[in-house]
Amino acid sequence: MRILLQFPEGLKQYALEHAKRLEKDGDEVFISASPTFGACDLAIDEAKSIGADKIVHFGHNMFNKVDFNVEFVPFEVDAPIQILERSLDKLASFKRIGIVTTVQHLHQLQKIREFYERNGFVVVIGKPFGFAKADGQILGCDVGSAARIDRDVDAHVYFGGGRFHPMGAVINTTKPFLMVEPFEGVVEFIDHYREMYRKRSKGKVLAALNSKNIGIMVSTKNGQSNIALGRLLKKRIEEHGMQAQLLVSNTFDFESMNNMMEFDAFVNTACPRIAMDDTTRTIKPILSPNELSELIRIREAL
Ligand code: SF4
Repeated sequence: MRILLQFPEGLKQYALEHAKRLEKDGDEVFISASPTFGACDLAIDEAKSIGADKIVHFGHNMFNKVDFNVEFVPFEVDAPIQILERSLDKLASFKRIGIVTTVQHLHQLQKIREFYERNGFVVVIGKPFGFAKADGQILGCDVGSAARIDRDVDAHVYFGGGRFHPMGAVINTTKPFLMVEPFEGVVEFIDHYREMYRKRSKGKVLAALNSKNIGIMVSTKNGQSNIALGRLLKKRIEEHGMQAQLLVSNTFDFESMNNMMEFDAFVNTACPRIAMDDTTRTIKPILSPNELSELIRIREAL
């Protein structure tokens, strides 16, 4: 069998080891050297062009249905949960808490739940909106496990590595949000990011207010592609007296976007985090579809 192995950036260090193991079984193995952002980003074009029978994708669970043979291999990481002791003081004034984590620590969720229950909390685990597949799991683009239970809890707790995932959850919730980051040893409330994102969003809309030409970003990635939305936004922009053009790429390169100097702003239909997190990487503002609506509303009111 011809196999294409695909690893997210943090796991590419293990690619050779896996490839050699499969080769011993008689498979022909290729390793995708392209950047990989998630299961939304399966290397289907690469697999087809080398005639692969299967993609083996490590580190994520399924995102959306695709028309290709893909095996998802979870990658569990045992993070030290003793750090939870340090969260008890910070959560002392709350009774009901929601817990969320990433796919790498889902196997630890039950132990985390038991820890808090032993310490007198009522623990609520929410359900994702759909792209994430397990209760309590969040993705950068699916924070349903936190957002759906926001009304039922006094505070949220995120357990896991990095800030990328909790950032998405904090801006889609309203209750105090504690980040427990076991690798850096950080236990802190991150509610201030709500205001930071709100201000950043307002700044982008104001910067794009006098736009004449808007580029609409449409990705070809399996889980990010939304041509229908791109077309809809183009129509909407043109109805409101601006020009719009659809831009297509697999992975949008910000330097290339900066070279497209005729555009005054961009609207993102790909990974929603691009318009949130990559705003300083382009000269012209990148708006989300909601921010485009806000821009149109302000222009109409002027
Ligand atoms: S946040 Fe973006 S990169 Fe991550 S899974 Fe969602 S669409 Fe993919």
